[in-house]
Amino acid sequence: MGLAIVHSRARVGVRAPEVRVEVHIAGGLPALSIVGLPEAAVREAKDRVRAAIQCAQFEFPARRITVNLAPADLPKDGGRYDLAIALGILAASGQLTTEALDGWEFVGELALTGEIRAVDGVLAAAVAAGRDGRRLLVAPGNGHEAALATGVDVRTARTLLEVCAALDAKKTLPQAQPLPCQQMQAPDLSDVRGQAQARRALEIAAAGGHHLLLVGPPGSGKTLLASRLCGILPEPTDAEALETATIASVSGRGLDATKWRQRPFRSPHHTASAVALVGGGADPRPGEISLAHHGVLFLDELPEWSRHALEVLREPLESGTVSIARAARQCEFPARFQLVAAMNPCPCGWAGDPSGRCMCNDEMIRRYRARISGPLLERIDLHVEVPRLPPGMLRTDGAPGESSAAVRERVLAARACQQARGQRMNARLDHAMTNAFCRLAPRDTALLERAVDALQLSARSLHRILRVARTIADLAGIDAIETPHLTEAIGYRKLERGRERAAA
Ligand SMILES: [Zn+2]
Repeated sequence: MGLAIVHSRARVGVRAPEVRVEVHIAGGLPALSIVGLPEAAVREAKDRVRAAIQCAQFEFPARRITVNLAPADLPKDGGRYDLAIALGILAASGQLTTEALDGWEFVGELALTGEIRAVDGVLAAAVAAGRDGRRLLVAPGNGHEAALATGVDVRTARTLLEVCAALDAKKTLPQAQPLPCQQMQAPDLSDVRGQAQARRALEIAAAGGHHLLLVGPPGSGKTLLASRLCGILPEPTDAEALETATIASVSGRGLDATKWRQRPFRSPHHTASAVALVGGGADPRPGEISLAHHGVLFLDELPEWSRHALEVLREPLESGTVSIARAARQCEFPARFQLVAAMNPCPCGWAGDPSGRCMCNDEMIRRYRARISGPLLERIDLHVEVPRLPPGMLRTDGAPGESSAAVRERVLAARACQQARGQRMNARLDHAMTNAFCRLAPRDTALLERAVDALQLSARSLHRILRVARTIADLAGIDAIETPHLTEAIGYRKLERGRERAAA
């Protein structure tokens, strides 16, 4: 009787590959079969599509209907193809002209009433539809999100009937509109009193994109400091913001279309599973490290995290991506986050405090710190102590700290130096670039060698020291790395030194 082809989009990781919905109607006993490796949810689509077509006052053909979702090797879950299948059946049965579907893509689930429902991952679908030169139709609930994609015409419709009426009569459907963006309201660094050393480390971390570990007793302000990192980072570029938004869009937790321009700050609790942290599941979804892409991942109580969760963190810390293999499916999610970790100095939290209230012995402290593996510690460039402040410093009569805006000026200047030199942040310099850009005077080379020897540092740590020294020199606006820059950078490997002493 008829054949129709309708375009739609799948959701695979952060990609939205094209799916062709082919509908064939032939004589024979009335039946609807969907082929192309459909999962349970797609089979349920049969019932929804039938009800929606009937509710929209169309006729559901009493023929043999075959729906093929191509290519067959793509996962096809959820109800995102409902609308495309329904339109295909209407076109193949002559109730809608096939020309009306030309140049369109459809992504949306159908309610039994024919209402179009929002699905996840439409931002990636909108970007991909634009690249292929087609218009996209989504549910009104997806409009704000899909409208973030540029160079694509996104329309919304409330019901199947509305879509058919508009397509047939060549009437226009409402264009999807982005929501006005909220200004970033990151907490300000001026709230942090004292803590000169930790503030300095935070500034270096922001300037060069380095990972940071804060070590201090409870209540010393570690969380306060970490939550202020986003406020001193440069604004994300359009491309960066779009990448982060695309991840949130496929996470199944929804994307806040008013905050997509802000760098994410994620602070999962230490009881979170490895899957929640790095992503996974039968239908792989991004984890916290990907939701923190181009932003900050704050891991408080680092030694309390499961060993497994911390080990799976190592690879993305280096590569900026995480790959998840699950049965036949392989997914990659971007995960270029900046890590800020925090921990107490000992199990009770008060080691080194002048009050002398810590009763932990050396062995307890050693075991506590050993929960963080050497290879993970190695990947954190800056280890800094955050001591408890004397009570007077915490009162509001103490001088407020420097504002985030002032610190950010210096961070931006240091980033500009790095951009001009190597087109990337110092933390992302590769081996060859580190050697080229982080040259030392012979005297300083000897100093570094002695430090590496004394602290028994690995080659990886050595390169990280060089890159941090490079950032410190950039913050000072100086071309060549000088002795004070290097000694400061070496000073930030505190915890590795602590391990050696404790192990000895
Ligand atoms: Zn203690």
